[in-house]
Amino acid sequence: MTQPRIGLLIVISGPSGVGKDTVLRRLFELAPHLKYSVSYTTRPPRPGEVDGHSYTFVSEPEFLRLIEQKEFLEWARVYDQYYGTSRRRVEAALNRGEDIILKIDVQGATFVRKRMPEGLFIFITPPSTEELLNRLTGRNTESPQALEIRQKEALVELGLAKDYEHVVCNRDVDETAREILAMIAAEHDRHRAAV
Ligand code: 5GP
Repeated sequence: MTQPRIGLLIVISGPSGVGKDTVLRRLFELAPHLKYSVSYTTRPPRPGEVDGHSYTFVSEPEFLRLIEQKEFLEWARVYDQYYGTSRRRVEAALNRGEDIILKIDVQGATFVRKRMPEGLFIFITPPSTEELLNRLTGRNTESPQALEIRQKEALVELGLAKDYEHVVCNRDVDETAREILAMIAAEHDRHRAAV
């Protein structure tokens, strides 16, 4: 008898400006079967971001209500805004046997690791710190104050790569996406072998 396919929880972190969104876009092109966990946030949408797709954008009172209702698998305050992963959305995907990707910060990942240690935890690093700071400045999506906070936090976050089982350096978007895909395949093999 074949075993039902078990969905894999994949957590991807990395400092702001490292190119997580671009890598994820490529990853979903290469592997459209992967699901994305749309987080809730109180941060205002950036140009081009679509509600319910990039994030579910909510007000702060609404976010606090969702905390009370235990809607979050984890939540954190990042760059002075709230971000949270929907427990319901993640559990539904895993129960359907789907692989689901969470793009969350290091605090959130630490929390998820405690609850779901069987997940795959990946940290994306930049080729150099200088390049990371340049990318953040060049992005031009934040106010000067928000940019300064992001730069400081990005350097702190970079130091936390050591907590991750898997670290990928983002030199080339396509290569990084393919490396992540290989890690996902290897993790499925490991789980299958353990059954
Ligand atoms: P951004 O505002 O650039 O989209 O995201 C800022 C940071 O928040 C990134 O490090 C991103 O990974 C993190 N983030 C996004 N969604 C979540 C979430 O649901 N939970 C946590 N803990 N962090 C999140």
